[in-house]
Order: sequence, then C-alpha cells, then structure tokens
Amino acid sequence: LVVLDGVNKHFGALHVLQDINLTIGQGEVVVVIGPSGSGKSTLCRAINRLETIDSGSIALDGKPLPQEGKELARLRADVGMVFQSFNLFAHKTVLENVTLGQIKVRKKDKKAADQYARKLLDRVGVGNQADKYPAQLSGGQQQRVAIARALAMDPKVMLFDEPTSALDPEMINEVLEVMQQLARDGMTMVVVTHEMGFARSAANRVVFMSDGQIVEEQSPEQFFTNPRSDRARDFLSKIL
Ligand code: ATP
Ligand code: MG
Repeated sequence: LVVLDGVNKHFGALHVLQDINLTIGQGEVVVVIGPSGSGKSTLCRAINRLETIDSGSIALDGKPLPQEGKELARLRADVGMVFQSFNLFAHKTVLENVTLGQIKVRKKDKKAADQYARKLLDRVGVGNQADKYPAQLSGGQQQRVAIARALAMDPKVMLFDEPTSALDPEMINEVLEVMQQLARDGMTMVVVTHEMGFARSAANRVVFMSDGQIVEEQSPEQFFTNPRSDRARDFLSKIL
C-alpha cells in the first residue's frame, strides 16, 4: 500500500533519511522504534508529504505522492496522522474538529458529517464530549478526538508519531486500546512509539531506525528476543 524506495533526505549537512526502503502492506501494523533523532518523525512526515524528500520515491496505492494543490489535500486525508501534541483546533468544538475535513475535503454535507463524527467519537469513547472545546478535555480524550478526526477522512493508512508520549501515565492505555482496536479492525498503521507492550501485541513488524537508517526489520517476537544488530540490542537494553 505504501512503498518507499531509496528515500534520502537531508537537513543541511545532516543525512536524516539514508536510502530508506520500506513496504507497508494493506492491513499491516508497522511499529517504528529507535533512539531520539534517528529520523522516525521525518519518515512519517515524508509519507504524509509534510516533508519533501531529496531522492527516491514514495508511492501510495501505486501512485507517487502528489506535490501540491488539491491532490495534496486529498493525500493528507488519505494518510491520517496523529501527533504527540494533539493538534486539535482549539477554537472549534470536538464535533467541529471531526466534521471540518469531511465537509471541506471529502465534500460531505453537514448532516452526514455530523452523523459520521458522532459515530466515530462513540467508537473512541468520547461520544459524550462532542460539544466541548479541546481545552475542556483530558489529554487522553483529546488524543482520542484526534484519532477520530483522522478516521473521519476514511484514510488508507494511519500514521501515529509517539501518540502517547505527552500523556499522563493513566491516560496512555485508553489511547493504546483505541489503537489496538483499529489494528484489529484491519487498519493499515505506521506507529512510532516507545510502548513496547503495544509493539509486541499489535505489530506485524518492527522497524528499528538508527542514524537515519533502517537497521532492522523483523517480527516483534524476533526483534525483542533476538535483535540482530548491536545498535538494537543497545537500544533495547536501555528501554526495557
Ligand atoms: P525523537 O525520538 O526525538 O522524536 P526522531 O527519530 O523522530 O526523534 P526526527 O525528528 O525525525 O527524529 O529528527 C531527525 C534529525 O533531524 C534530528 O537530528 C533532528 O534534529 C533533525 N531535524 C528534524 N527536523 C528538522 C528540521 N526541520 N530542520 C533541521 N533539522 C531537523
Ligand atoms: Mg520524533
């Protein structure tokens, strides 16, 4: 579904993505882990075209990512993204946050958008918060609204960049559970996370990045019990 072929990206002298080859199949859950600064966020942002790349190619559904205009807005809808900081529209209600893109990008009428938004808000467990503003919600609730907002676009793939890192510990699980359910429902997902429990239980594949490279790519069982590289072993010894 998503194919990265020989992707390179520099920030000035920093070679932040080095010849990245990665294929994400339909319905697959790929967990990306690695040290701070290894390029995980940049990888996600490149798939969403929030970052340009210097060479190589990224394709969604066999088509190269569009460069601009309406096509780009559609791509951002097709590739849902959930960030560490929830990034909700502060001056819009929860319901409006989830209807806006449906109306603007997917051209739905307000009634259909409202209906779908309420269904999704129920699904992520915040159906009773629809008329509140983001600031009136807990971090975990806000993050679940952000997930609902992305889902409202019927994305082909969902990218999660450390979605629970900014949350208080007691709120992490409620967000991970929503993600687990999504994975079970067959959503194609790329998840950058330090939550190794989630990686073990939900991932089809673990991708370990270090210094802009994909150093290892294997099943979670293999990766956690028998990492092949020294860099992965070293990383795991620090976080487990
Ligand atoms: P973390 O675990 O801390 O989130 P990461 O693996 O997500 O790290 P990236 O955010 O992708 O890492 O950053 C990779 C490298 O690129 C870092 O050294 C970072 O400082 C650098 N970088 C990221 N964005 C930019 C930018 N816009 N301009 C210049 N350098 C950047
Ligand atoms: Mg990051």
